[in-house]
Amino acid sequence: MHATAPNPVIELAAPCLGEPEKRALCAVIDDGWITMGERVRRFEQIFAELHGVDEAIAVNSATAALQLCLSIFDIGPGDEVLVPSLTFVATANVIVHAGATPVFVDIESPTVPHISLRAADARITPRTRAIMLVHYGGYLIDLQPWRELADRHGLLLFEDAAHAAGLAGAIGIASDAAAFSFFTNKNMTTAEGGMLIVRDEQRRQRARILRTHGMTATTLDRARGNAVGYDVLDCGFNFRMDELRAALGLVQIERLGEWNESRRALTNRYRRELAHLTAEVAVPFDAGRPTSAHIMPVLLPPQTDRRSVMQGMREAAIQTSVHYPPIHHFQFYRQKLPVTSLPQTERFCEAELTLPLHPRLTLADVDRVVTALGDMLRT
Ligand SMILES: *Cc1c(COP(=O)(O)O)cnc(C)c1O
Repeated sequence: MHATAPNPVIELAAPCLGEPEKRALCAVIDDGWITMGERVRRFEQIFAELHGVDEAIAVNSATAALQLCLSIFDIGPGDEVLVPSLTFVATANVIVHAGATPVFVDIESPTVPHISLRAADARITPRTRAIMLVHYGGYLIDLQPWRELADRHGLLLFEDAAHAAGLAGAIGIASDAAAFSFFTNKNMTTAEGGMLIVRDEQRRQRARILRTHGMTATTLDRARGNAVGYDVLDCGFNFRMDELRAALGLVQIERLGEWNESRRALTNRYRRELAHLTAEVAVPFDAGRPTSAHIMPVLLPPQTDRRSVMQGMREAAIQTSVHYPPIHHFQFYRQKLPVTSLPQTERFCEAELTLPLHPRLTLADVDRVVTALGDMLRT
């Protein structure tokens, strides 16, 4: 139906869901056990194997994973955490919830919109406890220099890998912990959901306990008669993943590699077509950088009125977005923290436009987006 419509909407992002997901959900209902059980455990194992780590801990969002991460390392009042301002607001919110202070660090440059190592080094104080990296757009940060910086100053190193599910063998290995998201618009989805990888075995154990109220025995153990009572070892949360979501995750993770490959192919097409435009549209990052190609960010030429470009694209039935308004400009953070100026972040955020990218797009869709953008920039 879409293919014959005159001007089908090209969506910014769209989950890939179908019959296998429906069947998986029905199977959970038929089995009758609907929260943390065998499917969650299997999903954790497969996710861990895919990323080349021993274990992964399933939770109900990446925000929960990040919060759990800060909890197991006792990040709290008096602590500072270095974090980019160019990220989704949850990355900073969890630091505030922990009672710690987010210290926003500028990005390297508009063409390498990752937290700057040099700028981070300059913001380290005796109160700094951790660095939170964000693999913006799914583009992998080179972790080795960050590990060295963290070790030199005795800091923890965390990864917000919400954009980067499926970047095998790269994430959660050099850092102390990494958090992934399965929200609807991410590279794979469980509607809501997340995963935490923790390097240290004891901290990992603590994360499992904190995930479910700090209790010693799980509901499943008790239902099976494996545990009579329970104790509470820690003041925990309810961050559990349920079996319905794990069932979705088990189906989705089978396709993740193929989907990420499609995203990369579409990104390459964008790069090629955008290079032919007369207007100077820059694409961040080198084409060779490892990526899960979560989004398609571009930088509009200086002096472009982004709002009218976005309006024009909407009229051409093409959805666009901005990733992200910088966190340090949000009212809450302006009032909470001292004024900071992050010139590279601000330049990037003023010029950035996110173009549609998801595995159901076709190369022809990409060409239509680029043509529309070219038309918009000429007028
Ligand atoms: C989506 C996202 C999150 C939050 O993920 P949820 O699973 O929705 O909690 C955190 N950080 C970044 C960078 C994100 O894009």
